[in-house]
Amino acid sequence: MGENLVEKAKEIYKDIPIDASSLETYVKLMQLQKELQAIFEEKYSHVDVEKANSVLREGKPAFLGVDLGLNEEELGQAMLQITGLLKSELPDASQSLERLEEAWKSGQLSLVNLGESLLTGDVDYAHAKAEELRVDHEVLEAVTAWVMQVLFQALASRLSGKIDISTWTLGRCPVCGGSTRLEIIDSEGSAHLKCQFCGTEWGFQENKCPYCGNENAEEITSIPADKEGRFTLNICHVCGRYWKVVDERRTGQAVPRKLYDLWTFKLDLIASGGKTITPEQ
Ligand SMILES: [Zn+2]
Ligand SMILES: [Zn+2]
Repeated sequence: MGENLVEKAKEIYKDIPIDASSLETYVKLMQLQKELQAIFEEKYSHVDVEKANSVLREGKPAFLGVDLGLNEEELGQAMLQITGLLKSELPDASQSLERLEEAWKSGQLSLVNLGESLLTGDVDYAHAKAEELRVDHEVLEAVTAWVMQVLFQALASRLSGKIDISTWTLGRCPVCGGSTRLEIIDSEGSAHLKCQFCGTEWGFQENKCPYCGNENAEEITSIPADKEGRFTLNICHVCGRYWKVVDERRTGQAVPRKLYDLWTFKLDLIASGGKTITPEQ
């Protein structure tokens, strides 16, 4: 555990074109998830590593070989912590958040069902539920994802160093199966992808598109995003997607990797063609 993300993040606020109070809310949420993760890690202390490895060898994400043991009470308590934090931070969303809390307490809302719908990609379920409860479906989906993220971060932390991902060559996460647009070049110059959902890191060929596997340099545009050479935006012309590269030979390692996605938010803005606010004074 150790580091407090809220304190650490203050050092990088100047690089992120989001107002400080929204940033702080977001980082507080990450910190809370990190604390909740410790509770769920207990749950996965006896996870079947052999089973996870055999699933990996088939080219499938490890979680498919793990009994996630989704439990309504555990997930609900995690949700209450998250909604509790956000209610005080985001007054505009507090009504929706309160409705979710009440719906869970009265049994109208099942986080096990929601979590399963997220894992199977069944978006209709959350939409219908949001309509039934008269809450914004984006709020419901975001809260579900934040709760499930805690679970997957705990699982990833438990599997880290135990499962064999040395032969995993895909751009998708070997633990949760999610896609990622975050690449890290470590201090030795080796490239890794980092899952933005569960935090798993795995070796990946530099300058290869994590989405479609394109490695033809002529089909990739690299845009340096700051004058220090810390961040690069790569755009793949085969699939049209982009990914972000953090070079630790330039950034050093004082900032937790957990914050890199947020730290490079400016690159998302550039990629989406949105207005770019340059905070450099
Ligand atoms: Zn993952
Ligand atoms: Zn691509």
